[in-house]
Amino acid sequence: MTVSTTLPLVASLRETDPDLAALIDAEGRRQSESIRLIASENYVSQAVLEATGTLLTNKYSEGYAGKRYYEGQQFIDEIETLAVERAKALFGVDHANVQPYSGSPANLAVYLAFLQPGDKVMGMALPMGGHLTHGWGVSATGKWFTSVQYGVRKEDGRVDLDEVRDLALAERPKLIFCGGTAIPRTIEFAGFAEIAAEVDAVLVADIAHIAGLVAGGAHPSPVGHAGVISTTTHKTLRGPRGAMLMSDEEHAKKLDRAVFPGLQGGPHNHTTAAIAVALKEAATADFKAYAHRIVANAKALAEAMADRGFDLVSGGTDNHLILADLTNRAIGGKPAAQALDRAGIELNYNTVPYDPRKPFDPSGIRLGTSSITTRGLTEEHMPQIAAWMDEVITAEGDGDSSVASRVRNEIREFVAPFPIPGYSD
Ligand SMILES: *Cc1c(COP(=O)(O)O)cnc(C)c1O
Repeated sequence: MTVSTTLPLVASLRETDPDLAALIDAEGRRQSESIRLIASENYVSQAVLEATGTLLTNKYSEGYAGKRYYEGQQFIDEIETLAVERAKALFGVDHANVQPYSGSPANLAVYLAFLQPGDKVMGMALPMGGHLTHGWGVSATGKWFTSVQYGVRKEDGRVDLDEVRDLALAERPKLIFCGGTAIPRTIEFAGFAEIAAEVDAVLVADIAHIAGLVAGGAHPSPVGHAGVISTTTHKTLRGPRGAMLMSDEEHAKKLDRAVFPGLQGGPHNHTTAAIAVALKEAATADFKAYAHRIVANAKALAEAMADRGFDLVSGGTDNHLILADLTNRAIGGKPAAQALDRAGIELNYNTVPYDPRKPFDPSGIRLGTSSITTRGLTEEHMPQIAAWMDEVITAEGDGDSSVASRVRNEIREFVAPFPIPGYSD
């Protein structure tokens, strides 16, 4: 009998710390046996996994290539430069900083670069689809800065640029964020850029969710519109946990200084290396096709869900992400997400715009197709996924708990032909 394992990455770990190795194996099995629809997640390649697991983690390298505060940077400088040059080439930008530890610190660095405490920032409200770090109240960005927030239209769930313009003209923010975490529609970078220019604000395009789509040509690029581009590297871009800040020459120095020494110490060199690998992968024709398949799958899943009576915010999707309001299904987002998880479908509960319920028990669920597309699922598989979701949510409403375990078995068989990197059965 073969043992399910995350070998070879945890070969020594299994000896040193079998308890932890067993937990990693269990997580590997969980990730491989479920249908992952969490919009912010992906499965990185074996090559990216290997780069994150290297001895580069041993090295301190505060500073930037050629200007470090520690010796022994002969190879680290080359690794970071490779990542930077690949980012610049892939996105077509003048400048890239690959050191931010993750998306949230990357955004905080942008505040540090351009604002003083108390200065005004404008971003999309969290319950409307924005991110915490775009000035939401519980975040440092909402506590230490004066924040004004825009939303989406109630009728169609889309951003109303006229409303954004009116708010910007009235409030005159110094920094404007566009982008977010639950936006199923194309972000209108040009429209935001016009507004930012009118009020003399720096426009930050936060493409954390859609960076892979932008890189693959499946979503318009913010380059030429936004002065600063912030992104994570681990969502649709399919790299390690990390982030990048990109800009034109004008803002380069300010951003670099804000990341280090303004906010961070030593960069995580193993992550930098893995970012470089992911950027190389993202520059291929294969990745371009992948990015377009993500969107095709999302559109197919949205259509299949709509056919089954799911009420989709904005009526559908232009990208990798779907937001469904479950009010008409007489179940909250949280119990639905929990029931789906028991059935082997992993997603997250989420507020919908103008949600009458509380953020910890909201009306909606959020789904994304980047992970399942990485595994090789295609449009023809989407109706089956929508059918399972429909069945599980209906059964949960009826108090029938037997459905979840049956569906779970069906899903285990369904995904078995689509292995994930880093785990073998
Ligand atoms: C995910 C995300 C972030 C934060 O990234 P973390 O790595 O979780 O800190 C920031 N902005 C947007 C729009 C995101 O989707």
